[in-house]
Amino acid sequence: MALNEQEAVYDSQSKVFPFWGQTFYSIHEIASYLTKLMDTEWFFAQFGPTPQVALKEWKDRNRWAGCADAKTFTIYLKKGNQAESTILHELAHLLCGSGDHGQCFVDTQLILIRQQMGFHAYSEYRNALLETGVFTPTVRPLPKEQNHG
Ligand SMILES: [Zn+2]
Repeated sequence: MALNEQEAVYDSQSKVFPFWGQTFYSIHEIASYLTKLMDTEWFFAQFGPTPQVALKEWKDRNRWAGCADAKTFTIYLKKGNQAESTILHELAHLLCGSGDHGQCFVDTQLILIRQQMGFHAYSEYRNALLETGVFTPTVRPLPKEQNHG
């Protein structure tokens, strides 16, 4: 049975992201990380002016690590440690203005991963997405590899 977009994203993430990215231990760390990223010229050039992200901790235990509310530009996070890939996943939802996992989402997520988690994480995740057969190679061409020896 063919995967839907959400399953393709979740499957690819679970194959690749345990091996890449940093871990955050507090909401404060995540807030600093997002401010640092979103204050860059690179971010502005990619996404234009964006509101500041509000971060909220979920009181309830929930099966999702995070959840994004694009209307209020808020990311809800489960209490406890958070993976960088989770933060960028939720940020991609905010930037696309939607909770779905379609073309805008994967394009945006890939841009953020390449910039923040590096070329190898990006490349492995992109390949995993393509292997699901749900997304096409036209999603985004591979960039020229820079500063990798
Ligand atoms: Zn999602």
